Amino acid sequence: MKLIISGDKLTLACAHMLSKHDKCAHVHGHNYQIEVEIEGEVDDNNMVIDFGQFKKSVSEILKKLDHKTLLPQNSKDFNFIITEKEITVTTCENKKYRFPREDVELLPLEATTAELMAIYFHDLIKDQFPKFKITVIISETPTSKVIYTCE
Ligand SMILES: [Zn+2]
Repeated sequence: MKLIISGDKLTLACAHMLSKHDKCAHVHGHNYQIEVEIEGEVDDNNMVIDFGQFKKSVSEILKKLDHKTLLPQNSKDFNFIITEKEITVTTCENKKYRFPREDVELLPLEATTAELMAIYFHDLIKDQFPKFKITVIISETPTSKVIYTCE
């Protein structure tokens, strides 16, 4: 049986940029809407999982990214200089950005595309709920969403 969680606590307002992209190479933002589907057997308590507990766990994972600039630490196109107080990014187009350290979340990704973010969120959630099948749906805009699942 499948359960789906969504809502305000699964919404992220973030800035990001993609390299080598006409429009998205500029720093811009999204209000990401995230839905998570969890699939498993109904247990002895007549539930697959407690909705509240599941939503709390997922929102804890997402919370640290909210209202941050997301930067892909493993990017081949961005060069980072990281100090205690700030992060300087130089792009392959030779643009340079300086961010206060506290405004940035470095993600272990090659790019902050919705596709890679869906895989990243999936794996973090799956670590906490290993016996369930997890599906992550990220809406980057009201008309664009990514769906990722893994057996
Ligand atoms: Zn974007």
